[in-house]
Amino acid sequence: MKFYSTNNPAHRVGLAEAVIKGLAPDQGLYMPTEIPVLSKGLLDRFPEMTFREIGYEAIGALFSTALSQDQIKELVDHTLTFDAPVVKVEEDVYSLELFHGPTLAFKDFGARFCSKLMSMLVEKSDRKVRVLVATSGDTGSAVANGFLGVDGVEVIILFPKGKVSELQEKQFTTLGQNITALEVDGVFDDCQKMVKEAFLDAELNKKLLLTSANSINVARWIPQCLYYFYAFSRLPQHGKKVAFAVPSGNFGNIAAGILAQRMGLPIDQFVAATNVNKVVPDYLNGADFQAMSSIATISNSMDVGNPSNFPRLLALYGNDEKVLKENVKGYFYSDEQTETAMQAVKKSGYTLDPHGAVGYLGLTAFMAENAGYQGVFLETAHPGKFRETVEKTLGLKLELPERLAAFMEGEKKVECMGNGFEGLKGYLEKLP
Ligand SMILES: *Cc1c(COP(=O)(O)O)cnc(C)c1O
Repeated sequence: MKFYSTNNPAHRVGLAEAVIKGLAPDQGLYMPTEIPVLSKGLLDRFPEMTFREIGYEAIGALFSTALSQDQIKELVDHTLTFDAPVVKVEEDVYSLELFHGPTLAFKDFGARFCSKLMSMLVEKSDRKVRVLVATSGDTGSAVANGFLGVDGVEVIILFPKGKVSELQEKQFTTLGQNITALEVDGVFDDCQKMVKEAFLDAELNKKLLLTSANSINVARWIPQCLYYFYAFSRLPQHGKKVAFAVPSGNFGNIAAGILAQRMGLPIDQFVAATNVNKVVPDYLNGADFQAMSSIATISNSMDVGNPSNFPRLLALYGNDEKVLKENVKGYFYSDEQTETAMQAVKKSGYTLDPHGAVGYLGLTAFMAENAGYQGVFLETAHPGKFRETVEKTLGLKLELPERLAAFMEGEKKVECMGNGFEGLKGYLEKLP
């Protein structure tokens, strides 16, 4: 399988280069040149297959020319070590719980796959790979935990001082080993800018093998298609159409759902649900695509003003805006609406986190306007990960899952970075 750049379809690279580079040299996103379509006969067998068995089929179809059968099995087994249950919330409304992994957010799927694949691809190289990531919370914890102890890879995480929840911070500052956390005296955008400058600095890149592990990397993006196949196979078969609603920030998650659809999964409708960072819903409802600076909300992992995976949505529909707008409906919600939904759904016995609540709102709005659907919203994080907001909104005390509580006991270790690229460059240049 080859990958092309969304900025230049003639620029093509193999899997290893796409994964190690992350972003194409022309700043485009890598996309598979061909999308394999699974047969209906195979899809019809998915309800009887396990999550991993489904994973072998889907990843096998995508990567069989680049990886051996053994490698594909190893990758899928390493990624799918926890379940993604489909839980009924209301009649025809289901929650796809993606928070049963080690850091309690869906990013564990992509981070685990990415770390394993990167370690396979660098095995033969004698150079150490350095993964640089900027995080506003969940990416740092998922990437750090995915890469912890992986040979030949060192992870450097930049995060904005005081802008990350205590729990999120603990999940990437207490690990040690091959994980280093750099505390930046600024906001998330400053961290992101420093990382971007590092990738563009010729001197640094001559000396170090630098790569990224955010959702633009195909190794993080592609494995997210697996839980769409799995969830679809677990829905009751009563002849209704199927909608998936995805609470979205950078739009990597929903783009992976569309990849599953292009691979033959008969999803009838996508719903892109956001908080007031509503660039894409506005676009889907007829406005021009207009990036903005991000606004802080209670669903903070979706506070993105310039969604980086947007070109993938268009590319997956052959750059046909009309087809994209038919397949994906956009909705956005305020914090008050999000809180009201959390309270209402709690009454029927289900606890939403603020991100899942945005997905639930989008799904139920779509279903109110369109009859004959059953729908799934993606519950992207455990409510305990946003404990303060959830406890305040619902007026209750949450029990923290054991693996989350364990992080709270570790000791925080960070390097202070000030703000600006020169400090980061100085730090990286001194690395052995
Ligand atoms: C990252 C994140 C999102 C947004 O996912 P995208 O792929 O960036 O659209 C939603 N919810 C949670 C909890 C997240 O951590």
